[in-house]
Amino acid sequence: MPLAVISGIAGQDGALLAAFLLNKSYKVIGLIPADRDSDAFRLEYLKIKDSIDLRRVDLLNVTQIRNLLEEVTPDEFYNLAALSSVGLSFKQPLLTFDFNTRSVINILESIRQVSPNTKFYQASSSEMFGNIGRLSLPIKESFLFHPVSPYGISKASAHWLTVNYREAYKLKACCGILFNHESALRPSTFVIKKIIHTAINIKKGLADSLSLGNVSIVRDWGYAPAYVEAMWLMLQQPVMDDYLICSGNPVSLQYFIDQVFSHLDLDSATYVKTDTSLLRSLDLEITYGDNTKAKQNLGWQYDLTADGLIKRLIADEYDFLKWKSLSTHS
Ligand code: NDP
Repeated sequence: MPLAVISGIAGQDGALLAAFLLNKSYKVIGLIPADRDSDAFRLEYLKIKDSIDLRRVDLLNVTQIRNLLEEVTPDEFYNLAALSSVGLSFKQPLLTFDFNTRSVINILESIRQVSPNTKFYQASSSEMFGNIGRLSLPIKESFLFHPVSPYGISKASAHWLTVNYREAYKLKACCGILFNHESALRPSTFVIKKIIHTAINIKKGLADSLSLGNVSIVRDWGYAPAYVEAMWLMLQQPVMDDYLICSGNPVSLQYFIDQVFSHLDLDSATYVKTDTSLLRSLDLEITYGDNTKAKQNLGWQYDLTADGLIKRLIADEYDFLKWKSLSTHS
């Protein structure tokens, strides 16, 4: 039975990846912060909480990580823990940079010292690329990074640490450079979850408007359950490499909003309001990626269109809300 450690197990990707690996008969050890209880509702929703060995480990404490690796010697380590909000990173730049980089070198260094055969996956982000001129799109793995947020900068540093440990110390380490991927398990502060959740509440008469910042941005949104499979595929390759994981479909936020509201027989113009406090001081106008390398080298399959994604996310949100109303979770 292969053994995987997942940091950030209680987050969207951690929970979905754990479900995916358990389904492949892995033993999964999930890391939660040492100083607080992570909300385990995603693990409960997926009905996998009791199948995971949850451990409290402070990723800023290298001794705690080393002790864990000495004890369990995992086959695979998926590092998903991070302060993951671009918007919040502007309010908490120090915290974001400090945690998102130091945790990564602590894990890499611990693997190097006590468990060098452990394969390591780092959750890199398309935010590392920053504002690529419209004419250069789609983004490919070979593009230079020019991040425009504290979050993007922290992820770029963590990315290069991982590449450096692969090249300098021959660690079996790789980075998945993921574009935005969504599910009902996204925190409700993230825009796609917020749009779908609020639109359903408007339909039910539980909300009367949806406040958003800049809706002209164009992004590459994908379906999170399909993206966690790509993480696993990366660690099954004989040679470690870095991959862009994206849908390849550029979609404007305005289109997304209009489609969600139209699926619910609502007119978005009546309900959507602009809240200037949600505008960012620096924002990416347009970004989307090229997933050819992942499809060719990993055999990763992704053919969901933007409309297919919207329909699936609405159906998933209804399912999630039903579970929430029946569960003891508030
Ligand atoms: P989430 O925000 O849902 O999950 C992040 C996890 O990190 C949470 O479980 C959180 O714990 C944990 N975490 C935060 N701070 C700490 C800390 N100090 N110590 C230990 N754990 C901590 O993110 P996602 O699941 O969506 O993303 C997973 C990874 O992929 C992240 O690294 C993110 O930056 C990256 N990524 C995500 C993309 C996306 O579209 N989802 C796109 C590109 C990259 P707790 O639950 O207790 O808060």
